[in-house]
Amino acid sequence: MLLGGAAAIALAAAAPAFADTGAAPATAVVSNNVLLKEWTGPYGGVPPWDQVKPELFPEAFQVGIDQLLAETDAIANNPAYPSFENTIEAMEKSGRTLDRVQALFGVMTDNMSTPAYQALDKEWSPKLSAAYDKINLNSKLFARIATVYEHRDHVGLDPKQLRLLTRTYEGFVRRGAKLNDAQKAQLSAYNQQLATDFSEFNSRLLADEATFTPASEADMAGVQQDVKDAAASVAKAKGLPAGTYAIRNTRSAVEPVLSFGTNRALREKVWRAFVNRGDNGDANDTNAIIAKIVKLRADRAKLLGYANHAEWRMQDTMAKTPARAMDLMMRVWKPAVARVHEEVADMQPFAAKDGVTTIEPWDYRYYQEKVRKAKYDLSEDEIKPYFEQGNLLKGMHWAAEQLYDLHFEENTGKVPGFNPDVRTFEVTNKKTGEIVGLWYLDTFAREGKRSGAWMNTYRARARLTGDNIVLASNNNNFTKPEAGKPILLSLSDAETMFHEFGHAIHYLLVDVKYPSLGGSQRDFVEYPSQVNENWLLTRPILEKFARHYQTGEPMPAALVDKIKKADTFNQGFATVEYLSSALVDMKLHLDPTGVIDPDAFEKKALAEIGMPKEMVMRHRLPQFGHLFSSDSYSAGYYSYLWSETMDADTWAAFEEAGNPFDRKIADSFRINLLSTGNETDRAEAYRKFRGRDPDVTALLKRRGFPVN
Ligand SMILES: [Zn+2]
Repeated sequence: MLLGGAAAIALAAAAPAFADTGAAPATAVVSNNVLLKEWTGPYGGVPPWDQVKPELFPEAFQVGIDQLLAETDAIANNPAYPSFENTIEAMEKSGRTLDRVQALFGVMTDNMSTPAYQALDKEWSPKLSAAYDKINLNSKLFARIATVYEHRDHVGLDPKQLRLLTRTYEGFVRRGAKLNDAQKAQLSAYNQQLATDFSEFNSRLLADEATFTPASEADMAGVQQDVKDAAASVAKAKGLPAGTYAIRNTRSAVEPVLSFGTNRALREKVWRAFVNRGDNGDANDTNAIIAKIVKLRADRAKLLGYANHAEWRMQDTMAKTPARAMDLMMRVWKPAVARVHEEVADMQPFAAKDGVTTIEPWDYRYYQEKVRKAKYDLSEDEIKPYFEQGNLLKGMHWAAEQLYDLHFEENTGKVPGFNPDVRTFEVTNKKTGEIVGLWYLDTFAREGKRSGAWMNTYRARARLTGDNIVLASNNNNFTKPEAGKPILLSLSDAETMFHEFGHAIHYLLVDVKYPSLGGSQRDFVEYPSQVNENWLLTRPILEKFARHYQTGEPMPAALVDKIKKADTFNQGFATVEYLSSALVDMKLHLDPTGVIDPDAFEKKALAEIGMPKEMVMRHRLPQFGHLFSSDSYSAGYYSYLWSETMDADTWAAFEEAGNPFDRKIADSFRINLLSTGNETDRAEAYRKFRGRDPDVTALLKRRGFPVN
């Protein structure tokens, strides 16, 4: 499922590219603050999760910022003539301390949030934004970058250095380096206000996701036992009477009820709570904040010389212009809507049997399950006992070893974790025995953890700074079962798990010299993760690892066949749910004035594209964290589709080879597209891999849509 991944590496993307890099601190740290110290222990040092406390952050942020600014000033005021080494490379080495502090803080706000961390976030987000602006808008520094850039063709730079230099120069220009002083002050004010608003949006959304819907035994009719068990333990934790249930307001908790709950009134209640997150006119309502963010973005784009936020945001993407992204989306939108109408027609007879004349959005998943059962004799229910998380984890690791020689060995307890549920795995290269990295897995939903699923790196590989061992993490929001009960995943949760693991594999394999060339463009970043989802439903994985949690029997061949046959089932719904969100995002950020009423805008935009009335967007604006928790996916939710076009075309290469584990193709994928990070032009890298540009046909075929 392309929709699984949330804002991966959001923190890193929000800061200017080079802010994520570093070198030895210019000034010695005198404080005893553990957050400021180099990480110690195995694997080139690991985060000291066991010692992190909110009260340590103010000093850590301040010292980190001061160091970064001192290092930057030293580069800007260097009396030596500007060179690649003393300017660009020096910048790549700066800010090490702040990077570590940010890595720790990111986890505290994403995975372990408390009111204390939310208050810190609100206080420090604008301060950090101001610090980065001081660098981005430092005219002496920019003059040096510009000098190096002007002489770029005759100073003996290799192609990677040239790419880094060009990207650095263009990034500075894009972030306002050429503005006059008054404009720079205005820009910085916009950025700081946005940082404050993102933080406020986050805490309100988190508050709405911490709510729950109570339910009785009768309400829960039809819901799977493991889902009921989990809802019973939530009820217990919330102090509700024994024998009752509490359904958390998160996707993993809500979707099983919508799919299997026979009580229509409960489905409606749960659905309304979920789709109205941030939209209840109460203290957690996000509409006013969203309106402010959109206006600030439009004003900022104008100040920077762009027609709108989307045009500005898309400068450093593969798609390059909003029009190209819109073209691709509309190409897929039309057949997807047509398919939804067919799906609704298929559901109608089942609804009629229940006396339901109009299929409402809270009915879609429920009747879709009835159709699945009738058409393919397949039910999610039937799959789940075979998707025990521990077994799938083994399968995921096994696949990575077959494809990339990455070997995973659990070592939970050997290094600190930030929560008792966090598991860790040492990653080695099976052939060389070399330690590649450490992989952290935080599986369960909990209060204070943001919704969705994401991957981030606490430390990425960059040879320049001696960062050789990658620290990567996967974060999911699966419902925690009662003690001793198995973790059974739905198909979509299993796909999400493989998706996030694909991000981790990508960053474990990235092998670059310069930190700034280790990341990805927004519309490339979901490509490796989406490719990785494909291995879940391959026969070797299903046959070896999809084992019944009670009997240990492998998934019967007949069930595997049924799953394969039902491959394109419900693609109308999945595509429209996602694409409507992506289209509304783009339309919102194409508006040059940025003056909008979110609810009205959403309604109008959906009417314009012909949204089927039986469904809603996957993320309605009041809860669209991709867009409003930072800038990173704004005018960028289309990226999943852009990436999926490459993904489907890549998977077609494995299919053409007749073997999902074909090593020649896996090697070429790794060498050209994964390990190179952003050292080479991404479109070029793709052509090296596939011999041509990606073709959307594979995507249309995969989703079962007509290709002409
Ligand atoms: Zn993702």
